[in-house]
Amino acid sequence: MTCAACAVRIEKVLNRLPATQAAVNFATESAQVRFNAATTPIDALVAAVERAGYRAHVKVDPEKERAGTEARKAAAYRKLRAEFVVAAILTLPLVAQMVPMLASGGWSWTGPDAHHDVLPRWLQLALATPVQFWIGRRFYVGAWNSLRGGGANMDVLVSLGTTMAWGLSAVVTVLGLHEHVYFEASAAVITLVLLGKLLEARAKAGTSAALEGLVKLQPRTARIERDGAVVEVPLADVKAGDRFVVRAGDAVPVDGEVARGESAVDESMLTGESRAVAKAPGDKVYAGTVNQDGMLVAVATGVGSKTLLAGIVRLVAEAQGSKAPIQRLADRVAGVFVPVVVAIAVITFLATLAITGEASRALIHAVAVLVIACPCALGLATPTAIIVGTGRGAQRGILIRNAAALEHAGRLTKLVVDKTGTLTEGRPAVTGVIAFEPDGRLVAGYVAQPIQGGRAAQRALGLAAALEQGSSHPLAHAILAHAAAMQVVPVAIDGFLSVPGKGAQAVAADTGTIVRVGSSAWLASEGVAVPDDVVADVARDGHTIVAVGEGDRLVAVIALADKVRETSAAAIARLEAAGIEVTMLTGDHEATAAAVAKAVGIRHWRSGVLPAAKAEAVRDAKSAGAVTGMVGDGVNDAPALAQADVSFAMGAGSAIAIESADITLVRDDLNAVADAILLSRATLAKIRQNLFFAFAYNVLGIPLAAVGLLSPVIAGAAMALSSVSVVSNALLLRRWRPAGADSPR
Ligand code: ADP
Ligand code: MG
Repeated sequence: MTCAACAVRIEKVLNRLPATQAAVNFATESAQVRFNAATTPIDALVAAVERAGYRAHVKVDPEKERAGTEARKAAAYRKLRAEFVVAAILTLPLVAQMVPMLASGGWSWTGPDAHHDVLPRWLQLALATPVQFWIGRRFYVGAWNSLRGGGANMDVLVSLGTTMAWGLSAVVTVLGLHEHVYFEASAAVITLVLLGKLLEARAKAGTSAALEGLVKLQPRTARIERDGAVVEVPLADVKAGDRFVVRAGDAVPVDGEVARGESAVDESMLTGESRAVAKAPGDKVYAGTVNQDGMLVAVATGVGSKTLLAGIVRLVAEAQGSKAPIQRLADRVAGVFVPVVVAIAVITFLATLAITGEASRALIHAVAVLVIACPCALGLATPTAIIVGTGRGAQRGILIRNAAALEHAGRLTKLVVDKTGTLTEGRPAVTGVIAFEPDGRLVAGYVAQPIQGGRAAQRALGLAAALEQGSSHPLAHAILAHAAAMQVVPVAIDGFLSVPGKGAQAVAADTGTIVRVGSSAWLASEGVAVPDDVVADVARDGHTIVAVGEGDRLVAVIALADKVRETSAAAIARLEAAGIEVTMLTGDHEATAAAVAKAVGIRHWRSGVLPAAKAEAVRDAKSAGAVTGMVGDGVNDAPALAQADVSFAMGAGSAIAIESADITLVRDDLNAVADAILLSRATLAKIRQNLFFAFAYNVLGIPLAAVGLLSPVIAGAAMALSSVSVVSNALLLRRWRPAGADSPR
């Protein structure tokens, strides 16, 4: 592809196939296609692209693909550079002969009086012709392919414009007419367009540096334990379950769980958090992170494409190839640009001829119009910013699923957050159990320091443990751990049922009664009332209450504490300062919610909200015109996450989270959400600037060229500059840093 018009054309051709949806990215030279393999085989997609005058192949192995693409790009780059050098050598004398005229104050290169060529015309013809047809053949080929496929791209403009200038000059030279020749224009335009392409390729390579940096993090070998000895093997030979050794200073080769040893590991490449993380047996380590001074022995849990790093690389690569909604305007313009410009050029020619009566002058004005109008910057404006922005995000542990997610995050006005695991650490621990005798009398209360609570407490915990075995809720883990610590054996149950946002229920095998564990509100609605004074007492400090009921009788109240993250309050303040309205929606009790909201400084919150109601709240915010984001866990916030314009998942320890959310924060910290929003805003701002630049060149350039104020040579230089400036502007994002955060990276 040579410009945005090509990308638009290919997209159109693919979308015309039955049940096919394509997004073609000019900057990454790739297409993402959703298609029905039953009706449209993949060969049909490739064939359609080829009919349009381009070539395509299917990406198979992303690793090999990348190596192959790099080699191909490097070769193409060297060829382009060689051609540019030759073109420059041939063009230089043609342009240099104009310099004395320039120095003497004759600024208008297109004016008939100012145009004094010094070199003999046959020599000019000899210099310009190889540039036109040998170096410039790529434009003819590109133009022909595009026209044959029914489209018109930038090559059409370049070859048409330069051929007109060259052709006029050649006729004048061969026939010996007393007219001006414009060989310097045709040759300089081709040379400058090549220069623009060259600089653009260089800058574009810089845009994907972040992704390549991630790929290179993983070491090539691993030291694994085999038959009692440690051997170094290629990474591909490591299997899940292998024990591997990470020496001090080594990079972790695959994902694993520490079995032996203690150390600190630098995970900043994945999380953006610069402080090293302490690791001890049972902790997870991730491929690509760097062990500091201890030695670790770990069991491989994720190898090959199953590592967190591989997931991140895959995600970023996909995001960089995706298309932002904001680009649609540029695409629409690019799609009709070339024919419109050709029409303007024709009008320019006819009008200038009518006014001045000079055919050669009219022609050269038209050439300038054709050259200045090339839509190359238009195709680069959005994707280059997306590539740099998403790459920068990945470096800081912000994984953005696609360009649309980035655009929505950049426009975000409202953020809904869950309490557990988002504002709090999500690792609740039981702080007390209050058990009730069959007559409702409180028999054993223990807070902080557990005491043996007699048979009633044993029974209650046994029931709770039995129910929580079937639940994946964070509270369930805490209750199970506590029951195990108290050496309580789970009661046998049948017919387990999880009730999202409320708790779980089953039938106790020994008594045949329904038993429940869950929120006090839910148990109350099932006829199991929890005394108000008990609730108020436990919830006051932000502790969560879980009630245990057997039949219609309350058997215990379990108090759990989940520490509020130290970073949450600062993150809320940053979000509010950025003009984002933060609302906490929690399924927890009102008193608990109030305590947490106060601790983190949240002004808007609602408690006792069921999963479906969370989704409804998000929908309401959206229909009120807000761009709404949701931060939560996948367990029971899924409906709300799906409803939000942007869903955020925190703590990407599991690959599942990466697969589902629009934006995944590797770091377990609400500040990362603020960072993600600010980065998206910065990227969006770059896109807007870029689109403005790209349009400004054409909008200002075309009228200037039409009235003859812009020589083709200057037009060529401006055009080369436009794409380079757009890419360079996007590259500035590589140094982006969040305001208000104190992370050094
Ligand atoms: P949050 O909105 O804070 O994430 P949830 O919607 O996950 O809260 O749960 C709301 C309430 O329901 C919890 O505070 C708890 O009282 C109760 N609950 C939900 N699931 C369970 C469970 N598995 N065990 C005990 N209680 C539960
Ligand atoms: Mg939750």
